[in-house]
Amino acid sequence: MKELNSDVVVVAAGPAGLAAAISAAESNLSVIVFEKSMNTGGAANMGMGPLGLDTSVQRKELSTVDKNRAFDMFMNYTHWRVDANLVKKYFDKSADTIDWLQDMGVEFYKASRYFPGSEATWHIVKPESGNPGPRAASTMIKRMTERATELGVQFYFETPGKKLIKEDGKIVGVIAEGKDGEEIKVNCKAVIIATGGFGDNAELVKQVTGYEYGKDFYGFRIPGLVGDGIRMAREVGAGKTDVNMELATSLSGENLTPQILAAFNQPNLLVNLEGERFFNEQYFENSTFAANAINIQKDRCAFMIIDESIKRTYLKKGVDVMSMVLHQEEIDGFDEHMENAIAAGNPNVFVADSIEELAEKTGINCEKLIDTIDEYNDFCDGRDEAFGKVAKYMKPLKKAKYYAAKFFPGAYGTLGGIKINHNTEVVTDNFEVIDGLYAAGTDTCTIYGDSYMFILPGNTMGYALNSGRMAGENAADYVDSL
Ligand SMILES: Cc1cc2nc3c(=O)[nH]c(=O)nc-3n(C[C@H](O)[C@H](O)[C@H](O)COP(=O)(O)OP(=O)(O)OC[C@H]3O[C@@H](n4cnc5c(N)ncnc54)[C@H](O)[C@@H]3O)c2cc1C
Repeated sequence: MKELNSDVVVVAAGPAGLAAAISAAESNLSVIVFEKSMNTGGAANMGMGPLGLDTSVQRKELSTVDKNRAFDMFMNYTHWRVDANLVKKYFDKSADTIDWLQDMGVEFYKASRYFPGSEATWHIVKPESGNPGPRAASTMIKRMTERATELGVQFYFETPGKKLIKEDGKIVGVIAEGKDGEEIKVNCKAVIIATGGFGDNAELVKQVTGYEYGKDFYGFRIPGLVGDGIRMAREVGAGKTDVNMELATSLSGENLTPQILAAFNQPNLLVNLEGERFFNEQYFENSTFAANAINIQKDRCAFMIIDESIKRTYLKKGVDVMSMVLHQEEIDGFDEHMENAIAAGNPNVFVADSIEELAEKTGINCEKLIDTIDEYNDFCDGRDEAFGKVAKYMKPLKKAKYYAAKFFPGAYGTLGGIKINHNTEVVTDNFEVIDGLYAAGTDTCTIYGDSYMFILPGNTMGYALNSGRMAGENAADYVDSL
Protein backbone atom coordinates (compact mmCIF):
# COMPACT_ATOMS: atom_id res chain seq x y z
CA MET A 1 0.00 0.00 0.00
CA LYS A 2 1.25 3.43 -0.97
CA GLU A 3 1.14 5.99 1.86
CA LEU A 4 0.80 9.77 1.43
CA ASN A 5 0.27 12.76 3.70
CA SER A 6 -1.86 15.82 3.17
CA ASP A 7 -3.79 18.40 5.18
CA VAL A 8 -7.05 17.75 3.36
CA VAL A 9 -8.37 15.04 1.07
CA VAL A 10 -11.29 15.74 -1.23
CA VAL A 11 -13.12 12.67 -2.49
CA ALA A 12 -14.31 13.54 -6.02
CA ALA A 13 -13.77 16.41 -8.42
CA GLY A 14 -17.23 17.46 -9.57
CA PRO A 15 -18.08 21.15 -9.07
CA ALA A 16 -18.55 20.64 -5.31
CA GLY A 17 -15.25 18.77 -4.89
CA LEU A 18 -13.35 21.23 -7.08
CA ALA A 19 -14.74 24.24 -5.21
CA ALA A 20 -13.81 22.58 -1.92
CA ALA A 21 -10.29 21.75 -3.10
CA ILE A 22 -9.62 25.27 -4.39
CA SER A 23 -10.93 26.89 -1.19
CA ALA A 24 -8.85 24.66 1.04
CA ALA A 25 -5.76 25.28 -1.12
CA GLU A 26 -6.41 29.05 -1.03
CA SER A 27 -6.06 28.74 2.74
CA ASN A 28 -2.55 27.40 2.14
CA LEU A 29 -3.39 23.79 2.92
CA SER A 30 -2.02 20.84 1.01
CA VAL A 31 -4.85 19.10 -0.84
CA ILE A 32 -5.17 15.72 -2.52
CA VAL A 33 -8.20 14.98 -4.71
CA PHE A 34 -9.26 11.43 -5.55
CA GLU A 35 -11.48 11.26 -8.63
CA LYS A 36 -13.06 8.05 -9.86
CA SER A 37 -13.36 9.02 -13.53
CA MET A 38 -10.70 10.18 -15.97
CA ASN A 39 -11.47 13.88 -15.56
CA THR A 40 -12.92 16.60 -13.41
CA GLY A 41 -16.43 18.04 -13.54
CA GLY A 42 -18.86 15.15 -13.03
CA ALA A 43 -22.43 15.95 -14.09
CA ALA A 44 -21.59 19.65 -14.42
CA ASN A 45 -19.79 18.96 -17.70
CA MET A 46 -23.26 18.44 -19.21
CA GLY A 47 -24.80 21.56 -17.72
CA MET A 48 -24.90 25.24 -18.53
CA GLY A 49 -24.24 27.13 -15.33
CA PRO A 50 -24.90 27.88 -11.64
CA LEU A 51 -27.35 30.08 -9.75
CA GLY A 52 -26.21 33.48 -8.54
CA LEU A 53 -28.15 36.14 -6.62
CA ASP A 54 -27.33 39.87 -6.56
CA THR A 55 -24.35 39.25 -8.81
CA SER A 56 -22.31 41.64 -10.92
CA VAL A 57 -23.70 39.87 -14.00
CA GLN A 58 -27.34 40.40 -12.90
CA ARG A 59 -26.79 44.03 -11.97
CA LYS A 60 -25.84 44.78 -15.57
CA GLU A 61 -29.13 43.25 -16.69
CA LEU A 62 -31.40 45.01 -14.16
CA SER A 63 -32.56 41.68 -12.76
CA THR A 64 -35.37 41.92 -10.24
CA VAL A 65 -34.67 38.92 -8.02
CA ASP A 66 -32.45 39.61 -5.04
CA LYS A 67 -31.21 37.22 -2.41
CA ASN A 68 -33.79 38.23 0.20
CA ARG A 69 -36.75 37.74 -2.13
CA ALA A 70 -35.21 34.51 -3.39
CA PHE A 71 -34.85 33.30 0.19
CA ASP A 72 -38.50 34.07 0.95
CA MET A 73 -39.62 32.36 -2.27
CA PHE A 74 -37.49 29.35 -1.48
CA MET A 75 -38.66 28.90 2.09
CA ASN A 76 -42.30 29.30 1.09
CA TYR A 77 -41.79 26.76 -1.67
CA THR A 78 -40.22 24.25 0.72
CA HIS A 79 -42.62 25.03 3.60
CA TRP A 80 -39.55 25.55 5.82
CA ARG A 81 -38.96 21.80 5.86
CA VAL A 82 -35.31 22.34 4.92
CA ASP A 83 -32.27 23.82 6.68
CA ALA A 84 -32.97 27.56 6.46
CA ASN A 85 -29.49 28.48 7.72
CA LEU A 86 -27.84 26.40 5.01
CA VAL A 87 -30.04 27.96 2.32
CA LYS A 88 -29.30 31.46 3.66
CA LYS A 89 -25.55 30.84 3.71
CA TYR A 90 -25.68 29.44 0.17
CA PHE A 91 -27.69 32.36 -1.21
CA ASP A 92 -25.59 34.96 0.64
CA LYS A 93 -22.41 33.46 -0.77
CA SER A 94 -23.59 32.98 -4.34
CA ALA A 95 -22.67 36.48 -5.63
CA ASP A 96 -19.18 36.21 -4.20
CA THR A 97 -18.85 32.77 -5.79
CA ILE A 98 -19.69 34.21 -9.21
CA ASP A 99 -16.95 36.85 -8.70
CA TRP A 100 -14.58 34.14 -7.46
CA LEU A 101 -15.20 32.12 -10.63
CA GLN A 102 -14.75 35.20 -12.81
CA ASP A 103 -11.43 35.87 -11.08
CA MET A 104 -10.26 32.41 -12.24
CA GLY A 105 -11.19 33.28 -15.81
CA VAL A 106 -14.76 31.94 -16.04
CA GLU A 107 -16.89 34.18 -18.23
CA PHE A 108 -20.68 34.32 -18.04
CA TYR A 109 -22.81 34.87 -21.11
CA LYS A 110 -25.74 36.19 -19.08
CA ALA A 111 -28.01 35.56 -16.10
CA SER A 112 -30.95 33.75 -17.63
CA ARG A 113 -34.38 32.38 -16.87
CA TYR A 114 -34.91 28.68 -17.59
CA PHE A 115 -38.38 29.39 -18.94
CA PRO A 116 -40.51 32.56 -18.91
CA GLY A 117 -42.08 31.88 -15.47
CA SER A 118 -38.72 31.44 -13.71
CA GLU A 119 -36.26 34.04 -12.40
CA ALA A 120 -33.04 35.17 -14.08
CA THR A 121 -30.67 33.44 -11.66
CA TRP A 122 -29.06 30.95 -14.06
CA HIS A 123 -25.53 32.15 -14.85
CA ILE A 124 -24.88 30.62 -18.24
CA VAL A 125 -21.18 30.00 -18.79
CA LYS A 126 -19.67 31.42 -21.97
CA PRO A 127 -18.00 28.37 -23.52
CA GLU A 128 -14.50 28.67 -24.94
CA SER A 129 -15.85 27.53 -28.30
CA GLY A 130 -19.30 27.56 -29.84
CA ASN A 131 -22.50 29.10 -28.54
CA PRO A 132 -23.76 29.02 -24.97
CA GLY A 133 -25.85 25.86 -24.61
CA PRO A 134 -25.72 22.38 -23.09
CA ARG A 135 -22.20 21.50 -21.88
CA ALA A 136 -21.20 25.18 -21.57
CA ALA A 137 -20.33 24.63 -17.90
CA SER A 138 -17.49 22.30 -18.92
CA THR A 139 -15.52 25.49 -19.65
CA MET A 140 -16.07 26.59 -16.04
CA ILE A 141 -14.81 23.19 -14.89
CA LYS A 142 -11.70 23.62 -17.02
CA ARG A 143 -10.90 27.00 -15.45
CA MET A 144 -11.51 25.61 -11.95
CA THR A 145 -9.23 22.65 -12.65
CA GLU A 146 -6.50 24.99 -13.90
CA ARG A 147 -6.87 27.13 -10.77
CA ALA A 148 -6.68 24.10 -8.49
CA THR A 149 -3.57 22.83 -10.28
CA GLU A 150 -1.96 26.27 -10.06
CA LEU A 151 -2.56 26.21 -6.28
CA GLY A 152 -0.77 22.86 -6.01
CA VAL A 153 -3.80 20.58 -5.59
CA GLN A 154 -2.76 17.03 -6.51
CA PHE A 155 -5.29 15.11 -8.57
CA TYR A 156 -5.41 11.32 -8.73
CA PHE A 157 -7.70 10.22 -11.57
CA GLU A 158 -9.34 6.81 -11.96
CA THR A 159 -8.68 6.50 -8.24
CA PRO A 160 -11.95 6.11 -6.33
CA GLY A 161 -12.08 6.82 -2.62
CA LYS A 162 -12.99 3.59 -0.81
CA LYS A 163 -12.88 4.02 2.92
CA LEU A 164 -12.49 6.65 5.62
CA ILE A 165 -10.14 6.14 8.53
CA LYS A 166 -11.49 7.17 11.92
CA GLU A 167 -9.39 7.22 15.07
CA ASP A 168 -10.52 8.45 18.49
CA GLY A 169 -13.73 9.80 16.97
CA LYS A 170 -11.89 11.86 14.34
CA ILE A 171 -11.47 11.33 10.62
CA VAL A 172 -7.73 11.08 10.00
CA GLY A 173 -7.38 9.49 6.59
CA VAL A 174 -8.75 7.98 3.42
CA ILE A 175 -8.03 4.81 1.51
CA ALA A 176 -8.41 4.96 -2.26
CA GLU A 177 -7.78 2.45 -5.01
CA GLY A 178 -5.32 3.50 -7.71
CA LYS A 179 -5.55 2.71 -11.44
CA ASP A 180 -3.45 -0.41 -11.09
CA GLY A 181 -5.53 -1.69 -8.18
CA GLU A 182 -2.93 -0.62 -5.61
CA GLU A 183 -4.37 0.84 -2.42
CA ILE A 184 -3.36 4.38 -1.52
CA LYS A 185 -3.61 5.54 2.07
CA VAL A 186 -3.53 9.25 2.84
CA ASN A 187 -3.01 10.45 6.38
CA CYS A 188 -4.79 13.78 6.66
CA LYS A 189 -6.50 16.19 9.03
CA ALA A 190 -9.84 16.58 7.24
CA VAL A 191 -11.79 14.89 4.47
CA ILE A 192 -14.45 16.41 2.22
CA ILE A 193 -16.85 14.09 0.40
CA ALA A 194 -18.64 15.17 -2.78
CA THR A 195 -19.33 12.08 -4.87
CA GLY A 196 -22.53 13.21 -6.60
CA GLY A 197 -25.14 10.79 -5.23
CA PHE A 198 -26.23 7.55 -6.86
CA GLY A 199 -28.13 8.33 -10.06
CA ASP A 200 -26.25 5.51 -11.82
CA ASN A 201 -27.11 2.87 -9.24
CA ALA A 202 -30.40 1.45 -10.57
CA GLU A 203 -30.81 -1.02 -7.74
CA LEU A 204 -30.34 1.57 -5.02
CA VAL A 205 -32.57 4.07 -6.85
CA LYS A 206 -35.32 1.46 -6.95
CA GLN A 207 -34.79 0.52 -3.32
CA VAL A 208 -34.77 4.08 -2.01
CA THR A 209 -37.19 5.89 -4.34
CA GLY A 210 -39.21 3.15 -6.07
CA TYR A 211 -38.31 4.28 -9.61
CA GLU A 212 -37.27 1.62 -12.12
CA TYR A 213 -34.94 2.74 -14.89
CA GLY A 214 -36.17 1.68 -18.32
CA LYS A 215 -39.62 0.74 -17.05
CA ASP A 216 -41.32 3.88 -15.77
CA PHE A 217 -38.33 6.15 -15.41
CA TYR A 218 -35.75 7.45 -17.88
CA GLY A 219 -33.12 9.66 -16.29
CA PHE A 220 -29.58 10.77 -16.98
CA ARG A 221 -27.19 8.20 -15.60
CA ILE A 222 -23.74 9.70 -15.12
CA PRO A 223 -21.36 6.72 -15.02
CA GLY A 224 -19.77 6.09 -11.65
CA LEU A 225 -22.34 7.92 -9.51
CA VAL A 226 -23.29 4.91 -7.43
CA GLY A 227 -23.34 6.26 -3.88
CA ASP A 228 -19.72 5.64 -2.84
CA GLY A 229 -19.42 8.77 -0.71
CA ILE A 230 -22.71 8.14 1.04
CA ARG A 231 -21.64 4.58 1.88
CA MET A 232 -18.21 5.75 3.11
CA ALA A 233 -19.78 8.42 5.33
CA ARG A 234 -22.38 6.05 6.74
CA GLU A 235 -19.65 3.54 7.64
CA VAL A 236 -18.16 6.13 10.02
CA GLY A 237 -21.52 7.08 11.56
CA ALA A 238 -22.97 9.79 9.28
CA GLY A 239 -26.69 10.35 9.67
CA LYS A 240 -29.22 9.65 6.95
CA THR A 241 -31.35 12.13 5.04
CA ASP A 242 -34.34 11.69 2.77
CA VAL A 243 -33.29 11.08 -0.81
CA ASN A 244 -35.30 12.41 -3.74
CA MET A 245 -34.74 12.26 -7.46
CA GLU A 246 -34.15 15.60 -9.20
CA LEU A 247 -37.19 15.03 -11.40
CA ALA A 248 -37.79 16.25 -14.93
CA THR A 249 -40.03 14.99 -17.73
CA SER A 250 -38.53 12.51 -20.13
CA LEU A 251 -39.41 11.65 -23.73
CA SER A 252 -37.08 8.89 -24.78
CA GLY A 253 -36.54 6.32 -27.51
CA GLU A 254 -34.92 5.98 -30.89
CA ASN A 255 -34.33 8.78 -33.40
CA LEU A 256 -35.72 11.67 -31.40
CA THR A 257 -34.71 14.94 -33.01
CA PRO A 258 -34.80 18.54 -31.72
CA GLN A 259 -37.83 19.08 -33.98
CA ILE A 260 -39.79 16.26 -32.35
CA LEU A 261 -38.76 17.36 -28.86
CA ALA A 262 -39.67 20.98 -29.64
CA ALA A 263 -43.10 20.07 -31.04
CA PHE A 264 -44.09 18.11 -27.95
CA ASN A 265 -42.49 20.13 -25.15
CA GLN A 266 -45.39 22.56 -25.46
CA PRO A 267 -48.42 23.58 -23.40
CA ASN A 268 -50.88 21.44 -25.39
CA LEU A 269 -53.36 18.79 -24.28
CA LEU A 270 -51.80 16.29 -21.87
CA VAL A 271 -53.77 13.17 -20.89
CA ASN A 272 -53.14 10.03 -18.89
CA LEU A 273 -53.90 6.43 -19.93
CA GLU A 274 -57.44 6.92 -18.69
CA GLY A 275 -57.89 9.70 -21.24
CA GLU A 276 -58.18 12.40 -18.59
CA ARG A 277 -56.44 15.72 -18.21
CA PHE A 278 -54.64 16.06 -14.88
CA PHE A 279 -52.38 19.12 -15.25
CA ASN A 280 -52.49 22.77 -16.28
CA GLU A 281 -50.26 22.40 -19.31
CA GLN A 282 -49.08 26.02 -19.21
CA TYR A 283 -46.74 24.77 -16.47
CA PHE A 284 -45.32 21.97 -18.61
CA GLU A 285 -42.21 24.15 -19.05
CA ASN A 286 -41.52 23.54 -15.35
CA SER A 287 -40.25 20.04 -15.88
CA THR A 288 -40.30 19.18 -12.18
CA PHE A 289 -43.97 20.10 -11.77
CA ALA A 290 -44.93 18.18 -14.91
CA ALA A 291 -42.89 15.13 -13.85
CA ASN A 292 -44.48 15.22 -10.36
CA ALA A 293 -47.95 15.16 -11.93
CA ILE A 294 -47.07 12.41 -14.43
CA ASN A 295 -45.51 10.40 -11.63
CA ILE A 296 -48.88 9.82 -9.94
CA GLN A 297 -50.72 8.67 -13.09
CA LYS A 298 -51.31 5.06 -14.11
CA ASP A 299 -48.05 3.46 -15.31
CA ARG A 300 -46.33 6.79 -14.54
CA CYS A 301 -46.89 8.10 -18.06
CA ALA A 302 -48.79 10.77 -19.99
CA PHE A 303 -49.38 11.74 -23.61
CA MET A 304 -48.95 15.18 -25.15
CA ILE A 305 -51.27 15.39 -28.15
CA ILE A 306 -51.37 17.82 -31.08
CA ASP A 307 -53.41 17.81 -34.28
CA GLU A 308 -52.72 18.75 -37.86
CA SER A 309 -53.65 22.44 -37.36
CA ILE A 310 -51.33 22.88 -34.39
CA LYS A 311 -48.56 21.14 -36.31
CA ARG A 312 -49.09 23.41 -39.31
CA THR A 313 -49.06 26.54 -37.14
CA TYR A 314 -45.79 25.38 -35.58
CA LEU A 315 -44.35 24.64 -39.04
CA LYS A 316 -45.29 28.12 -40.20
CA LYS A 317 -44.64 30.25 -37.12
CA GLY A 318 -42.48 28.15 -34.83
CA VAL A 319 -43.43 26.62 -31.48
CA ASP A 320 -45.01 28.48 -28.55
CA VAL A 321 -42.44 27.85 -25.85
CA MET A 322 -38.67 27.48 -25.92
CA SER A 323 -36.21 27.09 -23.08
CA MET A 324 -32.50 27.77 -22.77
CA VAL A 325 -31.91 24.02 -23.05
CA LEU A 326 -34.32 23.25 -25.88
CA HIS A 327 -33.74 26.36 -27.94
CA GLN A 328 -35.44 24.99 -31.02
CA GLU A 329 -38.14 27.15 -32.55
CA GLU A 330 -38.67 25.48 -35.92
CA ILE A 331 -40.00 22.00 -36.50
CA ASP A 332 -39.19 21.77 -40.21
CA GLY A 333 -39.39 18.22 -41.57
CA PHE A 334 -41.55 17.15 -38.59
CA ASP A 335 -43.44 14.44 -40.56
CA GLU A 336 -40.24 12.88 -41.78
CA HIS A 337 -38.67 13.02 -38.31
CA MET A 338 -41.72 11.25 -36.86
CA GLU A 339 -41.69 8.63 -39.61
CA ASN A 340 -38.01 7.91 -38.96
CA ALA A 341 -38.49 7.62 -35.22
CA ILE A 342 -41.44 5.26 -35.61
CA ALA A 343 -39.63 3.21 -38.26
CA ALA A 344 -36.68 2.89 -35.88
CA GLY A 345 -39.03 1.37 -33.30
CA ASN A 346 -39.43 4.33 -30.98
CA PRO A 347 -42.30 3.24 -28.71
CA ASN A 348 -43.08 6.73 -27.44
CA VAL A 349 -44.17 8.70 -30.52
CA PHE A 350 -47.39 8.15 -32.43
CA VAL A 351 -49.17 9.32 -35.60
CA ALA A 352 -52.82 8.46 -36.25
CA ASP A 353 -55.56 9.31 -38.73
CA SER A 354 -58.27 9.50 -36.09
CA ILE A 355 -58.68 9.82 -32.34
CA GLU A 356 -59.84 6.20 -32.26
CA GLU A 357 -56.66 5.08 -33.99
CA LEU A 358 -54.58 7.19 -31.63
CA ALA A 359 -56.32 5.58 -28.65
CA GLU A 360 -55.62 2.14 -30.04
CA LYS A 361 -51.95 2.84 -30.70
CA THR A 362 -51.30 4.49 -27.35
CA GLY A 363 -53.55 2.38 -25.12
CA ILE A 364 -55.45 5.49 -23.93
CA ASN A 365 -59.11 4.84 -22.99
CA CYS A 366 -60.84 5.75 -26.26
CA GLU A 367 -64.28 6.79 -25.04
CA LYS A 368 -62.85 9.02 -22.35
CA LEU A 369 -60.29 10.51 -24.72
CA ILE A 370 -63.03 11.51 -27.16
CA ASP A 371 -64.97 13.14 -24.29
CA THR A 372 -61.88 14.90 -22.99
CA ILE A 373 -61.00 16.29 -26.40
CA ASP A 374 -64.61 17.46 -26.94
CA GLU A 375 -64.62 19.21 -23.61
CA TYR A 376 -61.15 20.69 -24.16
CA ASN A 377 -62.23 22.02 -27.56
CA ASP A 378 -65.24 23.68 -25.92
CA PHE A 379 -62.96 25.26 -23.33
CA CYS A 380 -60.85 26.62 -26.18
CA ASP A 381 -63.86 28.74 -27.24
CA GLY A 382 -64.32 30.12 -23.75
CA ARG A 383 -62.32 29.46 -20.61
CA ASP A 384 -60.40 26.39 -19.39
CA GLU A 385 -62.91 25.43 -16.71
CA ALA A 386 -60.78 22.48 -15.63
CA PHE A 387 -57.46 24.07 -14.70
CA GLY A 388 -57.58 27.69 -15.89
CA LYS A 389 -54.87 27.41 -18.53
CA VAL A 390 -54.20 30.80 -20.17
CA ALA A 391 -56.23 31.37 -23.35
CA LYS A 392 -53.20 31.74 -25.65
CA TYR A 393 -52.28 28.09 -25.08
CA MET A 394 -55.82 26.72 -25.53
CA LYS A 395 -55.54 25.26 -29.02
CA PRO A 396 -58.33 22.90 -30.10
CA LEU A 397 -57.69 19.46 -31.55
CA LYS A 398 -60.10 18.99 -34.42
CA LYS A 399 -58.24 18.00 -37.51
CA ALA A 400 -56.54 14.68 -38.32
CA LYS A 401 -53.80 13.67 -38.30
CA TYR A 402 -53.15 13.41 -34.57
CA TYR A 403 -49.66 13.24 -33.15
CA ALA A 404 -48.71 12.17 -29.64
CA ALA A 405 -45.63 11.70 -27.46
CA LYS A 406 -45.48 9.59 -24.32
CA PHE A 407 -43.70 11.20 -21.40
CA PHE A 408 -42.36 9.55 -18.24
CA PRO A 409 -40.62 11.03 -15.21
CA GLY A 410 -36.85 11.23 -15.59
CA ALA A 411 -34.16 12.79 -13.44
CA TYR A 412 -30.83 14.57 -13.47
CA GLY A 413 -29.77 12.38 -10.57
CA THR A 414 -30.41 11.83 -6.87
CA LEU A 415 -30.50 14.50 -4.16
CA GLY A 416 -29.34 13.91 -0.59
CA GLY A 417 -27.91 11.05 1.44
CA ILE A 418 -25.37 12.43 3.92
CA LYS A 419 -26.60 14.48 6.87
CA ILE A 420 -24.69 17.75 7.34
CA ASN A 421 -25.26 20.86 9.44
CA HIS A 422 -25.13 24.38 8.02
CA ASN A 423 -21.37 24.43 8.52
CA THR A 424 -21.13 21.51 6.06
CA GLU A 425 -19.89 19.27 8.88
CA VAL A 426 -21.11 15.70 8.63
CA VAL A 427 -23.26 14.84 11.62
CA THR A 428 -24.76 11.69 13.05
CA ASP A 429 -28.51 11.03 13.17
CA ASN A 430 -28.27 12.62 16.60
CA PHE A 431 -26.68 15.83 15.21
CA GLU A 432 -23.24 15.10 16.72
CA VAL A 433 -20.41 16.43 14.56
CA ILE A 434 -17.99 13.84 13.18
CA ASP A 435 -14.73 15.75 13.60
CA GLY A 436 -12.72 16.17 10.43
CA LEU A 437 -15.48 15.09 8.04
CA TYR A 438 -17.23 17.49 5.66
CA ALA A 439 -19.54 16.89 2.71
CA ALA A 440 -20.98 18.99 -0.09
CA GLY A 441 -22.93 18.96 -3.34
CA THR A 442 -25.47 16.37 -4.42
CA ASP A 443 -24.52 13.88 -1.66
CA THR A 444 -25.93 16.40 0.85
CA CYS A 445 -28.47 18.34 -1.20
CA THR A 446 -31.77 18.18 0.67
CA ILE A 447 -32.56 21.88 0.44
CA TYR A 448 -35.46 21.55 -2.02
CA GLY A 449 -37.56 19.23 0.10
CA ASP A 450 -39.55 16.98 -2.21
CA SER A 451 -39.21 18.85 -5.52
CA TYR A 452 -36.32 20.57 -7.31
CA MET A 453 -36.83 24.32 -7.58
CA PHE A 454 -36.68 25.20 -11.26
CA ILE A 455 -38.10 28.66 -10.56
CA LEU A 456 -34.64 29.74 -9.35
CA PRO A 457 -32.64 27.96 -12.03
CA GLY A 458 -29.01 26.92 -11.76
CA ASN A 459 -29.82 25.72 -8.27
CA THR A 460 -28.11 22.35 -8.05
CA MET A 461 -24.85 23.49 -9.58
CA GLY A 462 -25.12 26.66 -7.48
CA TYR A 463 -25.57 24.56 -4.35
CA ALA A 464 -22.69 22.27 -5.36
CA LEU A 465 -20.25 25.16 -5.87
CA ASN A 466 -21.28 27.12 -2.81
CA SER A 467 -21.53 24.19 -0.42
CA GLY A 468 -18.19 22.97 -1.80
CA ARG A 469 -16.60 26.34 -1.14
CA MET A 470 -18.05 26.42 2.37
CA ALA A 471 -16.77 22.89 3.04
CA GLY A 472 -13.26 23.88 1.89
CA GLU A 473 -13.25 26.98 4.09
CA ASN A 474 -14.74 25.21 7.11
CA ALA A 475 -12.28 22.33 6.79
CA ALA A 476 -9.43 24.87 6.62
CA ASP A 477 -10.65 26.54 9.85
CA TYR A 478 -10.85 23.13 11.50
CA VAL A 479 -7.30 22.19 10.42
CA ASP A 480 -6.04 25.56 11.72
CA SER A 481 -7.68 24.89 15.06
CA LEU A 482 -5.89 21.56 15.60
C1 LIG B 1 -27.61 16.92 -18.32
C2 LIG B 1 -27.44 17.71 -17.05
C3 LIG B 1 -27.47 19.09 -17.11
C4 LIG B 1 -27.38 19.83 -15.95
N1 LIG B 1 -27.38 21.19 -16.04
C5 LIG B 1 -27.34 21.94 -14.92
C6 LIG B 1 -27.31 23.36 -14.98
O1 LIG B 1 -27.19 23.98 -16.05
N2 LIG B 1 -27.37 24.04 -13.80
C7 LIG B 1 -27.47 23.41 -12.60
O2 LIG B 1 -27.58 24.06 -11.57
N3 LIG B 1 -27.38 22.07 -12.51
C8 LIG B 1 -27.32 21.33 -13.64
N4 LIG B 1 -27.24 19.97 -13.55
C9 LIG B 1 -27.01 19.36 -12.23
C10 LIG B 1 -25.56 19.61 -11.79
O3 LIG B 1 -24.68 19.30 -12.83
C11 LIG B 1 -25.23 18.79 -10.55
O4 LIG B 1 -26.12 19.17 -9.54
C12 LIG B 1 -23.80 19.05 -10.06
O5 LIG B 1 -22.88 18.68 -11.04
C13 LIG B 1 -23.55 18.30 -8.78
O6 LIG B 1 -22.24 18.49 -8.39
P1 LIG B 1 -21.45 17.47 -7.43
O7 LIG B 1 -20.06 17.94 -7.41
O8 LIG B 1 -22.19 17.34 -6.17
O9 LIG B 1 -21.56 16.07 -8.14
P2 LIG B 1 -21.20 15.59 -9.61
O10 LIG B 1 -21.12 16.72 -10.55
O11 LIG B 1 -22.17 14.53 -9.90
O12 LIG B 1 -19.74 14.98 -9.47
C14 LIG B 1 -19.50 13.86 -8.69
C15 LIG B 1 -18.10 13.35 -8.96
O13 LIG B 1 -17.84 12.32 -8.05
C16 LIG B 1 -17.00 11.35 -8.69
N5 LIG B 1 -17.01 10.13 -7.87
C17 LIG B 1 -18.02 9.27 -7.64
N6 LIG B 1 -17.64 8.31 -6.78
C18 LIG B 1 -16.35 8.58 -6.44
C19 LIG B 1 -15.40 7.97 -5.58
N7 LIG B 1 -15.66 6.85 -4.89
N8 LIG B 1 -14.17 8.52 -5.49
C20 LIG B 1 -13.85 9.62 -6.19
N9 LIG B 1 -14.70 10.24 -7.02
C21 LIG B 1 -15.95 9.73 -7.13
C22 LIG B 1 -17.64 11.27 -10.06
O14 LIG B 1 -16.80 10.66 -10.99
C23 LIG B 1 -17.91 12.75 -10.35
O15 LIG B 1 -16.80 13.35 -10.96
C24 LIG B 1 -27.27 19.18 -14.70
C25 LIG B 1 -27.20 17.80 -14.64
C26 LIG B 1 -27.28 17.05 -15.80
C27 LIG B 1 -27.21 15.56 -15.70
